[in-house]
Amino acid sequence: MELKAKSDLYRDGDVVDWVYFPKTCLLSLIAGWNARGVETSMVGSEGAAGLVEACGSRKSRSNALVRVGGQAWRAPPDLCRDLALTDSDFAAAVLKLAELQLAEARRAGYCQTRHTAPQRIARWLAESIERSGLNPLPVTQDTIAATLGLARTSVTMHALELQRQAVIRYRRGYLEIADPERLGKLSCDCRAYAARQRSDIGLEPATAKDNLDLQRRKAGARG
Ligand SMILES: [Zn+2]
Repeated sequence: MELKAKSDLYRDGDVVDWVYFPKTCLLSLIAGWNARGVETSMVGSEGAAGLVEACGSRKSRSNALVRVGGQAWRAPPDLCRDLALTDSDFAAAVLKLAELQLAEARRAGYCQTRHTAPQRIARWLAESIERSGLNPLPVTQDTIAATLGLARTSVTMHALELQRQAVIRYRRGYLEIADPERLGKLSCDCRAYAARQRSDIGLEPATAKDNLDLQRRKAGARG
């Protein structure tokens, strides 16, 4: 199914009606809401939104929305719960996801208070392409501001600097990472931390590598 950017999936405390498994989209788990919300976990094709809750109390423990639109699968929460009770591999995957999202939520608090706005913007953009496999990304400066809890004017100023350094460029409403290596160097170390957690826990974005390989092949064919 197609999930459109900015769609609300749940509010904190809602009963989970569907569990969402991103294929090419990116979901955000958010503490707070609107201008005061901050992303505590990014969900790409390595994870799911609502899965841990479906296997527990069935009530969402965060707000969840679609940050980058794209394809996803969805499944009824009762089916996920039954699977977790009968299939040990599935139960192990749910525990891994809970472990990853807990680690990310803890780190989000650290990042918010210890790292600068330009570091956090670079980290979020770099991680977004790693976890979705999409480059260019269909994100606006408003998207970045809302995700990171930053003022729009601050995001505009730092995005202009990234453009000036030829790290990013805008094309028809898409943000393209022109220099991923440089973007990685500008990111705070939370990017490497998050990658290490995914590797340690054994949850890597399933489709991101395929998407990136496909885009590289297309770029090669054009070139
Ligand atoms: Zn950070």
